[in-house]
Amino acid sequence: MKSKVFFTDLRVTPQQNIFKKLDKLLVKSEFNNIIEKGDLTAIKLHFGERGNTSYVKPIYLRRIVDKVKSLGGMPFLTDTNTLYVGNRKESVTHIETAIGNGFDYSVVNAPIIIADGLRGKSYEMVRIDKKWYKEVDIASEIHNADSLIAVTHFKCHELSGIGGVIKNIGMGCATLKGKLNQHSSVKPFVVVDKCTGCMRCIPWCPVEGAIVKIENNKKVKIVSEICIGCGECILPCRDGAIKIKWDADTGSMQEKMVEHVYAALQKKKDKYIFISFLTQISPACDCYPASDTPVVEDIGILISKDPVAIDQASADLVNNQSGNRNSKLTCNFEPGEDKFRGVYPEIDWTVQLKYGEEIGLGSREYEIIKLA
Ligand code: SF4
Ligand code: SF4
Repeated sequence: MKSKVFFTDLRVTPQQNIFKKLDKLLVKSEFNNIIEKGDLTAIKLHFGERGNTSYVKPIYLRRIVDKVKSLGGMPFLTDTNTLYVGNRKESVTHIETAIGNGFDYSVVNAPIIIADGLRGKSYEMVRIDKKWYKEVDIASEIHNADSLIAVTHFKCHELSGIGGVIKNIGMGCATLKGKLNQHSSVKPFVVVDKCTGCMRCIPWCPVEGAIVKIENNKKVKIVSEICIGCGECILPCRDGAIKIKWDADTGSMQEKMVEHVYAALQKKKDKYIFISFLTQISPACDCYPASDTPVVEDIGILISKDPVAIDQASADLVNNQSGNRNSKLTCNFEPGEDKFRGVYPEIDWTVQLKYGEEIGLGSREYEIIKLA
């Protein structure tokens, strides 16, 4: 059976601005049915790294928060601490970064609670008995919430090809241990002939000693025993010298991500929903302290209860656009061509959707229900 994906474009009038359209979309979707009076409702999002500008804006979160409150829920904004050393590696700087990016209580009308505790060690174990994991650790405050809303900035992603709901929940509800385990599938290496010795990659690496200088400081190599597979070094290398075994490495990482989504939703039954913003569709993750030019024009907002269907629909909508020639896109500019492969040619981003369908997380078949 086709899953329902509710959609609004971004065309507006003074009588019907985008907030009114979002309100209507929330009513039209099954949003009202997932919140019961007294529900502690986790709103899972990405607050954006400092310097990033493409994350979903706080004014949209305010609208969603107010809607949850109008239904009797008690919402909080949440994410988990990062694997890499940045401004969101523990809860204190994470919350400071979020507030600096505009997620202040006075704007969003809800508190921020980092879901995996002060240092990313707070979790609940969920039994799933799947191919990669028998048990999965899920961040405590997401696991213990009564209902879950994932608000996702849909974009390209340097490791999973697409950064959608599956990425937001699968990686974003995992603890440090879970993130490390998912990333452990990724083993970057340096193609020595291509390395120009610019050393741009070294400051991006969160692990001391994972990238070391060789050949009289003219080249670098990655020490695989120390590397945690976070992928942070891939984008800064302008010479394309840092590679991973794309199919084997990112394929298993995507499947592990999917199993984390499966685990995160286990306790929620029907009390979850996904809202994706197809705006400022950047070529890389919001974990980077900058947002490059979008690869296609802004498209709209989608809501669904099916994480596979909403990511498939989002990817299809992006691919049906004309590509932005003044962006990181190198090919596939025509409508219908794969924009994600146009940025990351080696990544088969469909692995996560196929595997999600295979384990019963959702369906790649969907019906778009457009707001009139
Ligand atoms: S070498 Fe690259 S993938 Fe490995 S830890 Fe450093 S930045 Fe992350
Ligand atoms: S950024 Fe690339 S070219 Fe520069 S030192 Fe690192 S691997 Fe070599």
